[in-house]
Amino acid sequence: MKTELPHGYWNPKIELMPKGQLKRLQLRRLEAALRYAWESSPYYRSLMKKHGVALETITTLEDFFRSFPVTRREDLNRDQLENPPFGTRLAVPLENPLRYHATSGTTGQPAVRAFDTERDWIWGADAWATSLYNFGVRPNDVVMIAFGYGSFIGFWGAHYAFEKIGCRVHPTGSMDTKTRIQMILDLGITVLCCTPSYAIRILHVAGEEGIDLAARSRLNMIVVAGEPGASIKSTKDIIEKGFNAHLGDFMGTTETAGMIASTCSRLCGGLHINEDRYLTEVVDPDNLKPVGYGKRGMMVVTPLIKEAMPLFRYATNDIVILERSNVCRCGRTLDLFMGGILGRYDDMVKVRGVQLTPQMIEEIVRSFPEVEEFFTTAEIRDGLDILLIRFEVKKDVNSQLAEHICRQIKASTKQNLGLSPEVAVEPYNSLPRFELKARRFKDLRNKSN
Ligand SMILES: [Zn+2]
Repeated sequence: MKTELPHGYWNPKIELMPKGQLKRLQLRRLEAALRYAWESSPYYRSLMKKHGVALETITTLEDFFRSFPVTRREDLNRDQLENPPFGTRLAVPLENPLRYHATSGTTGQPAVRAFDTERDWIWGADAWATSLYNFGVRPNDVVMIAFGYGSFIGFWGAHYAFEKIGCRVHPTGSMDTKTRIQMILDLGITVLCCTPSYAIRILHVAGEEGIDLAARSRLNMIVVAGEPGASIKSTKDIIEKGFNAHLGDFMGTTETAGMIASTCSRLCGGLHINEDRYLTEVVDPDNLKPVGYGKRGMMVVTPLIKEAMPLFRYATNDIVILERSNVCRCGRTLDLFMGGILGRYDDMVKVRGVQLTPQMIEEIVRSFPEVEEFFTTAEIRDGLDILLIRFEVKKDVNSQLAEHICRQIKASTKQNLGLSPEVAVEPYNSLPRFELKARRFKDLRNKSN
């Protein structure tokens, strides 16, 4: 049941702050964070010493961008391996943190372990609350969080933020999809929180059960995070139409423990950055120079308030495009990431000279509503690279139509990506299903993969 989203500000003082004042607030918080890390975090103290970074020489944000080295996922992994089990980044005694999280480790790297103190947790939940309220969540909303509540940070922050706003929250932990669908109907759920992949899974299972969630549920908002799906137009359309609800994209990371940017109620296609808490840069991934507004680059992020584990200039590998705040008509002075996370640099592959991200293939395949699931591989056959797209159609789609879609996917890939793939229809329910962090692309050309 789609109704107009209410407009409002969770923290108007920050969200409407003139840009100059916002930059000064960022600088003040950054200086305090650097001082704190120098005094308390062995990892950053030794990094600053190694690179000759003197705190007194950082008097502007640009000084910081220019002189402070980036931290990569590999650096955190190495520190953890050399100083097990938690590395040397911790800035408080080990008994102080009250929350532990680990990254999902799906990129083939070991999990990065992260701690939060009570203050970190309050700050993190408040960043989520800012984002959720600004999307349109209000105290009378009834929320379902469809997430496993494991050590992956996922929607933990969202759970506390919904409570902070005053919503009734239904955690659904290990519940299966059918039970969740029944709860959506029985409890009058108005906000569903999950990954884009899982939102689609819910729609498929509901379809099999003959339940039309667009007509029968009270869902008005779908809050998605954890995957770039919400930025992929065909995926977004399936979710919005399937639930007849507004889709909000929320981006954060385990390492920064909080909500970096999110969709506001004016739905301009961009995600406002919580700039008072996160200092973000968009840089060329090769030379780390800023790319400016309107251009693709890698997001580098610095959480400005962080007690347990400070982090500076974290090179995320996420592909984003920065835009000025006035692209959105909500009045916020906070800049935007247009379309959210557009992919990851470490997911990029080259097949016969063509640069691809899994999102480009998803955009094409999901534009056929008959497709239930798909999986893509890059392989070598007879010494040549090939791209193989395998897909399943929904139960009620006949084989003739499936073959027609097969030809269409082939043609559309050739036209849009300049590459002729092999495309194959697979039996129903034979491809992997995902609830969290979907990986629908595998490069099989390298034996180590
Ligand atoms: Zn806005």
